Amino acid sequence: MCLFCKIARREVPSDVVLETHDILAFKDVRPVAPVHALVIPKKHLTSLGDVGIEDTELLGRLLFCAHEVADKLGLAASGYRVVLNTGRDGGQSVPHLHAHVMGGRAMAWPPG
Ligand code: AMP
Repeated sequence: MCLFCKIARREVPSDVVLETHDILAFKDVRPVAPVHALVIPKKHLTSLGDVGIEDTELLGRLLFCAHEVADKLGLAASGYRVVLNTGRDGGQSVPHLHAHVMGGRAMAWPPG
């Protein structure tokens, strides 16, 4: 059973930042920035590659919620980064679609 599905069902505890009927956002347990949260669809989608045409509105809501989370965590004015690691070379370690919302420091480019 998928870890993030368990978090979405509240079977595994998390530090929830925002919840809607189909989206959950929670703090990352191993933050790589002063502020680091994850935004997930409650529906199990493995990655961006698993998104069907029927999921495009859900994906839009996910990005909308990413900004809501950034705003809630005080990042809206200073700026922040949203990342969707996808697949092996993308650095994805948890096979449930998630957007990282990171901020609280200036981000470097290009990423490693
Ligand atoms: P990725 O490497 O893009 O798949 O990102 C997965 C993220 O999930 C990593 O930043 C982990 O620190 C984070 N993570 C793993 N387990 C948990 C958990 N139980 N609660 C919150 N974040 C987690």
